[in-house]
Amino acid sequence: MLARAVTLVESRRSDHRAVASEVVAELAPTVGAAVRVGITGVPGVGKSTFIDQFGINLTAAGHRVAVLAVDPTSQRTGGSILGDKTRMERLAVDPNAFIRPSPAGATLGGVTRTTREAMILCEAAGFDVILVETVGVGQSETVVAEMVDFFLVLMLSGAGDDLQGIKKGVLELADAVAVNKADGDNIHRANSAAADYRHALHLMSPATPSWTPPVLTCSSLHNESLDELWQQIQLHRAKLDATGELTTKRQGQQVRWMWAMIADRLTEEFRSAPAVGDQLRDIESQVRDANLPATIAADRLLEAFLSSD
Ligand code: GDP
Repeated sequence: MLARAVTLVESRRSDHRAVASEVVAELAPTVGAAVRVGITGVPGVGKSTFIDQFGINLTAAGHRVAVLAVDPTSQRTGGSILGDKTRMERLAVDPNAFIRPSPAGATLGGVTRTTREAMILCEAAGFDVILVETVGVGQSETVVAEMVDFFLVLMLSGAGDDLQGIKKGVLELADAVAVNKADGDNIHRANSAAADYRHALHLMSPATPSWTPPVLTCSSLHNESLDELWQQIQLHRAKLDATGELTTKRQGQQVRWMWAMIADRLTEEFRSAPAVGDQLRDIESQVRDANLPATIAADRLLEAFLSSD
């Protein structure tokens, strides 16, 4: 039933949308107890290995785990790599886990809405840990950080130039950094990468007053330090619960989400309004060729939009 409900929220048919909205609106007030964790990292960092192991650790401890994915690249490839069940072999057959790949062919905005709604459905179905996987493409990290309580960044240790290749922005979103593949010959490099990330994070001001993002090393392959990470997630939850920051954080996310949807819808309506559409191309090319200042172009198009009905 959960899988069918998620299919319903993924549908773009307007009759499906109407039912989906009703279902989500009804369930939304009943959820909120689950722990929502976002997980990001470049392809190959070990996300699926991590989630598979982390997930079965959690189900073994009595949790019910849902894995969702936000994959904006799936619109290009036509299929999603993230959340693919074959990548999480053990978790995929675990009766206490639910894995759902990113819907293919949707825009980032579409995937964002779908995933947020799917999260509500999973929580309502009794899943108490929601893992949202994403890959560092475009804005996907930011949108996932905006829908979870805890954002985990998986990193790799490289050859000395660890900090050069990474996007600074992702560290700003992190509630924890885990340097994965800290095993075998790689332990030393992983420790030194962790020290570098600790230093980099130290220079940033934490997003949450009562939480300093820890940097750990782990091995998903050997199930090392994954328990420690879960403890950190629980500690974070307990601290933010106690100070009221979790509530404030979720409230802020909801308000920003509302505005994001308004902006999306308005832009869509604006672009599809005949009064605008008729002259959009012409005005755009005039702006491109510097024949028309952007300010005047915007005024003209907005006027056309607002005076049409
Ligand atoms: P993803 O693309 O981020 O999902 O990465 P995968 O989970 O598919 O992992 C990419 C490769 O790294 C696979 O060959 C994994 O077996 C390997 N890998 C993942 N985690 C670890 C780890 O902790 N240690 C080692 N040595 N290899 C790992």
